[in-house]
Amino acid sequence: MIVSIPSEVRNEYAKAASKGWVLPCICTENLTTTEAILAAASEYGAERSVSDVPVIIAITNNYNHRSQSVNYTHTRDWACGLRLFRNDILALAGPGAPYENVKVMLHLDHVQYDIDKELLEGDLSGYASIMYDASALPLDENIRLTAEFVRARGDQIVIEGACDEIVDATGSVHNDLTTAEVAERYLRETGVEMIVANLGTEHRATGKELKYHGERAREIKDRVGTKIVLHGTSSVTNDQVRSLFADGICKVNIWTALERDSSAALFGDMVRNASKVAGPSAIDKLIEEGYLTDKCRTDEKISISHFTYLYRQGIIYEEMKKIVRSYFDLWYL
Ligand SMILES: [Zn+2]
Repeated sequence: MIVSIPSEVRNEYAKAASKGWVLPCICTENLTTTEAILAAASEYGAERSVSDVPVIIAITNNYNHRSQSVNYTHTRDWACGLRLFRNDILALAGPGAPYENVKVMLHLDHVQYDIDKELLEGDLSGYASIMYDASALPLDENIRLTAEFVRARGDQIVIEGACDEIVDATGSVHNDLTTAEVAERYLRETGVEMIVANLGTEHRATGKELKYHGERAREIKDRVGTKIVLHGTSSVTNDQVRSLFADGICKVNIWTALERDSSAALFGDMVRNASKVAGPSAIDKLIEEGYLTDKCRTDEKISISHFTYLYRQGIIYEEMKKIVRSYFDLWYL
């Protein structure tokens, strides 16, 4: 079932907190990923006899690092992408649907204060939460705009704010960890319900020094409670991942690993079945060019079992499902 009424969404967060659960918030930009997330949650629930396993499925809009609603279709039309995203989830997890046993909350991620204005002022019904992202502005301006958005829409949707400051009032670019003082002030003055803080993970880091700062998270938690949203887990060690809830993290946004690791799995399978995927003559050519070795010259015919979208997406789907499942096993115990 799809949960979107703010009081019910808050209730899901409260229930998760009472169990010490971190809610995984997994981004998608296509149907395969969307279904893999739902299937992983559904299977987890069935295996552990847990009813209504909660999961958050997210999508970014015109976010310049990754515009996922734009990527959802080749029309490159964000509004069309969002409609499909919502319709896919409704068809898969709505009343009478195969993944009806999952409690799914839709989240709009990194919605930009400027280029996403049309979405911010439009119909947000059906979504459980939204991240209002004005972090490209100096902190005071970020706070002012975020507070304005909370006043306008806070009764209709749960709002998450981005309290890190990429560019300060002097115009200089920086990438500091969020302090407990800033986090507390940001929450108090904007009225948001959750904050995305810069804790050193790949959400903001400009490259080389990716490191999750748990001690900083705990300082923030001491001031504001368990209201921190963490973006990115690749730089978080397994031990740290397990204790995220204790650090004040209520929700973790995940995406890159799903696409990255499933790509490698698909590539490997295609190489191992090269002849069935592309046919003997295409393989001969790649061997001549030095890209493949003689091992790929099996002379097997190109086969419908291997040249279809279903084959390719099937491998991606299974791999993504495994990755998503691993998060439930870590956090929902
Ligand atoms: Zn982020």
